[in-house]
Amino acid sequence: MSEHSDVRLRSALTQVPAYVPGKPAAPREGVIAYKVSSNENPYPPLPSVLEVVREAATQINRYPDMAVTELSNALADHLGVPVEHIATGTGSVGVLGQIIQATCDPGDEVVFAWRSFEAYPIVTALAGASAVRVGLDEHCRHRLDAMLAAITERTKVVLVCTPNNPTGPIVHHDELERFIDAVPSRVLVVIDEAYLEFVQDPEAPDALALYRDRPNVVVLRTFSKAYGLAGLRVGYAVAHEPIASALRKTAVPFGVNSLAQAAAIASLDAFDELKERVDAIVAERSRVVEALRTQGWFIPDTQANFVWFPLGDRSTAFTQAAQEAGLTLRQYGDDGVRATIGEPEANDVLIRVAGAFLEATA
Ligand code: PMP
Repeated sequence: MSEHSDVRLRSALTQVPAYVPGKPAAPREGVIAYKVSSNENPYPPLPSVLEVVREAATQINRYPDMAVTELSNALADHLGVPVEHIATGTGSVGVLGQIIQATCDPGDEVVFAWRSFEAYPIVTALAGASAVRVGLDEHCRHRLDAMLAAITERTKVVLVCTPNNPTGPIVHHDELERFIDAVPSRVLVVIDEAYLEFVQDPEAPDALALYRDRPNVVVLRTFSKAYGLAGLRVGYAVAHEPIASALRKTAVPFGVNSLAQAAAIASLDAFDELKERVDAIVAERSRVVEALRTQGWFIPDTQANFVWFPLGDRSTAFTQAAQEAGLTLRQYGDDGVRATIGEPEANDVLIRVAGAFLEATA
């Protein structure tokens, strides 16, 4: 079988970086494996949600509702926004792709902080646009002034990730408001709130308030994290009608499947129950951060369901040490390592591994 093809693929594909998930630890006798590499919810699905998915599964010979009507209405109700302002997609990364497809021609620019969510340069390159990366500050926070300075005539979109994946800090409401008001109104500002439900800092942005009077702001959210539906792929954007309708045009037809639609509606209904789980994860986060800082680690403030170890060239050694203890973490080259707040037992292993690593390398 030949591995050669004369088909001419788009040249932009050569610029698309790989998405590198955490490498699972090889199973070892007597070591329990924990996957804390993808910021997933460690709790199993709620019985009420599973029940609805089972019921929806009896209809999977039919296409889903392409307009995602019932879920969009439920979201509009839940958020207090007009239903025309909701656009859904296959995970918020799917919606992000729709945003870039709707705004960028080849050669246009997308500005974002770095490090941030690794899909940003991927969706940008897929559209043939250029990624403009603006380094984080020493506290691993966005430098909004530098991001503003990076905007050019070719800039179509600015992505603001709050809390920032993989480092954890939020941007503050006031600084974000000043930033958005200084950005030219022709540039779309995306506020990526994938981890919103884990945020407790009162200075966090009220993104819906920022979007309300500003037709160049999009709020991006997901059911993958706090709602625990990562495997079903459903996310959404809130934006003014011209933008939301463009996002519906660039969606993959029938992309949000019927199980995802049903599960997302049931999860909105079960919000109080899910909130208890979120609270437990947030309590675990405090416990982990405190323990690590007591050991002597510099851990940036995190308002999400993960912690960031800015390990530099010790990242590989730390990832390996964690793997030997059964933990699958996410390593970011020679920048650092991210660990999701998992079940308490996984967090115990993380604290133990981190303490031993510090002692061994002191
Ligand atoms: N935004 C951020 C900041 C994320 O970290 C993630 C998932 N890692 C996403 C968006 C996409 O999540 P999903 O596609 O599952 O909604």
